Amino acid sequence: MSHPETTNTAPACPACDAREFKERFQLTDRLYHTTREQFSILECKVCGLLRLYPWPDAAVLDRYYPPGYWFSPQPDTAHRLEEAYRRLVLRDHVRFVRTALRHSSAHGLVLDVGCGGGLFLHLLHEEGFPVAGLDFSFEAASVAWKRNGVPAVCANLGHAPVSAETCSGVTMFHVLEHVYDPAAYLECAHRMLKPDGRLIVQVPNAECWQFRVFSSRWNGLDVPRHLINFRRRDILRLIELAGFEIIREKHFSLRDNPAGFATSVSTALDPMARRVRGVKEGGAVRLVKDLVYFCLVVAGLPFAALEALFNAGSSIMIEARKKQ
Ligand SMILES: [Zn+2]
Repeated sequence: MSHPETTNTAPACPACDAREFKERFQLTDRLYHTTREQFSILECKVCGLLRLYPWPDAAVLDRYYPPGYWFSPQPDTAHRLEEAYRRLVLRDHVRFVRTALRHSSAHGLVLDVGCGGGLFLHLLHEEGFPVAGLDFSFEAASVAWKRNGVPAVCANLGHAPVSAETCSGVTMFHVLEHVYDPAAYLECAHRMLKPDGRLIVQVPNAECWQFRVFSSRWNGLDVPRHLINFRRRDILRLIELAGFEIIREKHFSLRDNPAGFATSVSTALDPMARRVRGVKEGGAVRLVKDLVYFCLVVAGLPFAALEALFNAGSSIMIEARKKQ
C-alpha cells in the first residue's frame, strides 16, 4: 500500500536531512493494543534509516506505555518464577557491563538510563559497583528504590542530578529507539562520563535476520513506541558523531533475542502482552500459554545464535568510550 502524501508531509530524515521517503509498512500497536491508530514505517531514500511516522506527541506518548510495561507488579508464585528467569537472563547484560568497567581506569558511578524496576542495577551492585538509575516512570523509580534497593530518580537525562565527569559508566538498554532526540542523550552521557568511562548502548537492530524473516511482524518495530528503527550502521554512526569510539559489539542477547523471536511468531502468547492487555484466562490456560511461549523462546535460541554469528543480531549491545 503506497501513501504518497506521507512523503510530502513527513519531516526530514533525522540522520541525513533528506526529504524523500518510501513507505515500508502501515502498522498499529500489535503487541499491547494501546491504540488502533495506524502508523507508517518510512525508509529514507538516501540513507535508508527506518522510522515511525507520524511521531506521537509527547502529550500522548504516555498512553502507549501501559502500566506494568517495565516490571511485574504482583509478587505471587508465578511472578517469582518469572523474576528468577529474568535474573538468569540478565546475567548476560551484567557480564557485558562488568567486562567494560573492568577494562576502564575510571572509578565512579554507573548510571542506568531507563532503569525500570532496577533489577539490572541490583545485580550490578551485588558485584560491588556504585550504581544509580533514572527512569521516566515515577512508579518504576520507586520500585527500584524499594524492592531492589538501588538509588533511582524519576528524571529526564538532560535534567538529571548528575555532575559532569562523575560516571565510570552510563548504560542505556533499549532507550535510544524510544526518544525523540537520541543524539542529545548521547551528548549528555558524554558529558557525565569520566575520560576513560564507558558507554553501553543496546538497541534492536533492523539489519537482523529476524526482520528479514518476519518483516512487518518483527517484534523489534514495536509500533508506536519505537520512533527510530536503527540498523547497526545507523547506531554506530550516531555514537561516533557524539564523540565516542566503538570498542566492542555483541549481537546475541540471551534476554532479548530468543524472546523477540517468540513474540514475532505470536504476540498473542507473549506473557507481558497478555498481562498488559488484561487477557482473561484461567490458571491452566495461562500455564499452557506460558509453556508454549517458552518453547518458542527455546526454538528461537539457535536462530538468534546464528544471526549473531553473522553480525546480524536482532538486538545489539555496544561498548564505547570517549574519543581520546
Ligand atoms: Zn536519511
